[in-house]
Amino acid sequence: MAMGEMEAVVCSKPMEMGVKRVPIPKPKGNEALIEIRAAAVCRSDVSGYLGKHPLVTYPNILGHECSGIVAEVGPDAKGLEVGQEVAVETFFELCGRCPGCRRGQYNTCKSPKIIGHNVPGAFAEYMLANSDFLHPKPGKISFEEAALAEPLSVAVHAVKRCGIGIGETVAIIGAGAIGLLTLQVAKLSGAAVHVLDVVESKLEVAKGLGADMVFNASKADPTAEMLAANGGEGYDYVIEAVGSPRTLRQTVDLARAGGTIMCIGFSGREADEICLSRITLQEMRLLGILGFCRDYPTSIKLLSNDLVDVKPLITQRFALEEAESAIRLMLERPNEVLRAIVIPGRA
Ligand SMILES: [Zn+2]
Ligand SMILES: [Zn+2]
Repeated sequence: MAMGEMEAVVCSKPMEMGVKRVPIPKPKGNEALIEIRAAAVCRSDVSGYLGKHPLVTYPNILGHECSGIVAEVGPDAKGLEVGQEVAVETFFELCGRCPGCRRGQYNTCKSPKIIGHNVPGAFAEYMLANSDFLHPKPGKISFEEAALAEPLSVAVHAVKRCGIGIGETVAIIGAGAIGLLTLQVAKLSGAAVHVLDVVESKLEVAKGLGADMVFNASKADPTAEMLAANGGEGYDYVIEAVGSPRTLRQTVDLARAGGTIMCIGFSGREADEICLSRITLQEMRLLGILGFCRDYPTSIKLLSNDLVDVKPLITQRFALEEAESAIRLMLERPNEVLRAIVIPGRA
């Protein structure tokens, strides 16, 4: 490879992806160049690959759940050293002026630049990052675990926004990576957690990660069974981590009067079927979240203090050149994947 070049998996347009040699980018301002050591594949990479993600532009390099080593720092990047190991929070640039930015709710920025969406991402040997959004990786957590600080931050954000407390009851719909991380954070908050999914192997992982009870919805609707198991009443919190019309409808059936519904799952459809009259008549609270905001430090502490275990979520590992296969696996055999990790330099 020529000097100053790197391998990157470029998505030139929807469904077209290939390994290319491209120039290693040069960090400007407060940017840092990161040598990528682990990049997990997430549902938004699948949407980006399919051309169904509203933020993703082409050509681009996908991948945003990542960690690595600082390889070079821009002239204005402060408090960073070459060789430092970091988890990368996905924001690259925020407008700083919209109401969300001004309120400090930077995850709702109206025109954000986000790694692996509208700026080059982590399925590459190197990637530029904003030094303000780099978080030191403690030596005791691996690069793979640090990459999963991203989905873990979604879970932390969801549980914090709900305000889940000691002795409360939570139903989580969906035992994918986000559901399994939310389960662990909700347990740390002192709640009893029941998990619902259609894939038995994922429910087994949920049990291993501390779910008090699990319910399989593949054959029959387990709503009545769940309510019976919860002492005959609805749950204090129902957390939806799938984003399908059926599971959105289920949320109001599982919540108690005055309970809270948290929608993490996002379908992209306008007319999602949540029963608003039930929300009104039962005085429920309906919450949404968009990623995370200032939650990375918490996630990294949870990982380094062994309070959350992300290792059971790592179901496959791929070399950089195989990033498309990793995305296709998640697309074609979703029941077998929690998180597939792309590892540059893996033979
Ligand atoms: Zn993601
Ligand atoms: Zn903004």
